[in-house]
Amino acid sequence: MSLIVAKFGGSSVATMERIRNVAERVKGLREGGQGLVVVVSAMGDTTDDLIELAKQAGSELSCREMDMLLSTGEQQSASLLALTLSNMDCEAISLTGWQAGVQSDANHSKSRIINVDPERIQQELDNGRVVVVAGFQGLSPQGDITTLGRGGSDTSAVALAAALQAERCMIFTDVDGVFTADPRIVAQARQLTSVSYDEMLELASLGAGVMQPRAVEFAMLYGVDVEILSSFSDHYGTIITEVSNMERQRIVTGVAHDLNCARFAIFDVPDQPGVAKALFRGLANARINVDMVIQSAMRDNRNDIAFTIEDDDLHKAVPVVEELVKEIGASGMVYGNNVAKVSIVGAGMQSNPGVAADMFEALADADINIHMISTSEIKVSCVIDEEHIREAVQVLHQKFGLDKIE
Ligand code: ADP
Ligand code: ASP
Ligand code: MG
Repeated sequence: MSLIVAKFGGSSVATMERIRNVAERVKGLREGGQGLVVVVSAMGDTTDDLIELAKQAGSELSCREMDMLLSTGEQQSASLLALTLSNMDCEAISLTGWQAGVQSDANHSKSRIINVDPERIQQELDNGRVVVVAGFQGLSPQGDITTLGRGGSDTSAVALAAALQAERCMIFTDVDGVFTADPRIVAQARQLTSVSYDEMLELASLGAGVMQPRAVEFAMLYGVDVEILSSFSDHYGTIITEVSNMERQRIVTGVAHDLNCARFAIFDVPDQPGVAKALFRGLANARINVDMVIQSAMRDNRNDIAFTIEDDDLHKAVPVVEELVKEIGASGMVYGNNVAKVSIVGAGMQSNPGVAADMFEALADADINIHMISTSEIKVSCVIDEEHIREAVQVLHQKFGLDKIE
């Protein structure tokens, strides 16, 4: 029997009525003869609500205890779905991440899956059951519950699909598929019928929240065919797979934006070997991910260095950077989180000069100032003031004719 892994996100299981809809869909697939592993997220905003609840315990929140708490959200929805399926005469069993064999590292709150032992799931499938797995969670080598970072149920699903050698991983969400921009920001955004792993990885990493970047990485590494589709309609979805020639011809495939962005600028950094190492090693040791870095031209043997990090890390980063500024002998720093990143992504841009210039022109025409720029073969990103982000996404979408693609 062929096997499908189907993942349903938070909005798809937000209420008991929606869980019943999901159960109907699962039952339908099952009656079509499919072996099924279903991965679920927590109901609606449960994860956010649990985080707010924990804040009432104080300002110092242990990541280990937070993982213990947050993992309960997915356990609720998994058991509710299994109960609903069983009441529809569709035999089902729910499993936690660790019962399902999801082994992760011990980096609480942002753990990475290191192995999946699918034995228990396989046993249950052999017994003819639909297996419902709580997403977003794993077990560390120390035997503690971990979580896989926000949006981590996507990664649970793709990792299970890889371990079980499933035919496909279907990610059911609240939009019909992957669009040329977030459809909540650009009303004219067009759905893409297929996207390459490379482009999807860029789009996801640059803020297109429809899939967790690590899930795309897993899919690419293990060659898992992923389909993103709506749990609220029967519309066709978007296939994520190897690059096709047609995509190569598209210069720009999509526009992504990311509000989870904060910027530091450090002044008068001595221009000598080892300074950048000290600064960025210090940040790495504090487990702070740095995104863009800009070093200005030297004057009087001093440079200015600016860099961006995730806004979520800002609170943790400020005392670390303050200390590092003293250590490297810089004269001071400023920081803020009123910035955001807008990016264009497309496999075809590597052979088309002038794409970056077109992007800067569109932003200039809209009177939007660019603070930082970074490029790779298939993307250009600009950091701008957060207040202009909607307009920036809209003008870029129009500039590259994305509202017209078939
Ligand atoms: P789920 O709870 O199902 O995991 P998410 O909220 O994590 O759903 O992801 C779906 C959301 O991703 C959509 O509602 C949409 O607003 C957002 N999104 C951002 N960029 C894109 C894009 N390029 N295509 C489709 N959706 C996008
Ligand atoms: N419930 C978790 C979150 O809100 C994981 C997920 O939805 O994928 O981030
Ligand atoms: Mg998600």
